[in-house]
Amino acid sequence: MNKIIITIDGWSACGKSTLAKRLAKALGYVYIDSGAMYRAITLYFLRNHVDWTDIDEVNRALENINLQFVFNPAGKASEIYLNGENVEYVIRDLVVAEKVSEVAAIREVRTFAVKQQRRMGKDKGIVMDGRDIGTVVFPKAELKIFMTADNAVRVERRFKELIMKNPNTTIEEVKTNLEMRDYIDSNRKVSPLKKAKDAIVLDNTNLTEDGQFRKAMEWVKEKINPAE
Ligand code: C5P
Repeated sequence: MNKIIITIDGWSACGKSTLAKRLAKALGYVYIDSGAMYRAITLYFLRNHVDWTDIDEVNRALENINLQFVFNPAGKASEIYLNGENVEYVIRDLVVAEKVSEVAAIREVRTFAVKQQRRMGKDKGIVMDGRDIGTVVFPKAELKIFMTADNAVRVERRFKELIMKNPNTTIEEVKTNLEMRDYIDSNRKVSPLKKAKDAIVLDNTNLTEDGQFRKAMEWVKEKINPAE
């Protein structure tokens, strides 16, 4: 079958990874969470006290970072490893979420991540989610989806995820974090979050996970078999 590249960009916590994982599974494609790469880099910077306002320090630190995605059959998805350590869960902490947008705005950090992302997509058959995947990483992708959902719905969804891991999480801190990240991500100079001209908008405020999956699968089929 004709393999394509599917990009899913959009605001924080609007369900991009849920949809991306499901599409990848249904199609037998690779799923890559590009946000996990920026989160893992941020975790490394925090742990190693890297001053990311100093570009020389950033460049030196990047030389010591090895990122890998390894498929975990139990979770049926790939998980990110930072220098051999599985960090898939720690990178979801608010401590990382509070700094990740600052780190992801640094040109050198993006160059480092984008190079690896493009390599992962060279054989197509990939679903990648993030902020600049359809605009910068794979501008020629066959299917581009731009996801959005009402702010209150996004805050509620992310709060439910985070409170299960840390019962001290408050809804206010989740709301503040999402607003801050969306602001920085869409206003930064390098590869800001924006809809690619040829992306299809998917607002899932009132859609179930099954509903959004069915819609996206229709778009996929149109791209894979344009004649049908
Ligand atoms: O997707 P996720 O919310 O985990 O991404 C975390 C952060 O990583 C985003 O808020 C953004 O700052 C950054 N990011 C990015 N470009 C991407 C993916 C994520 O700048 N392609």
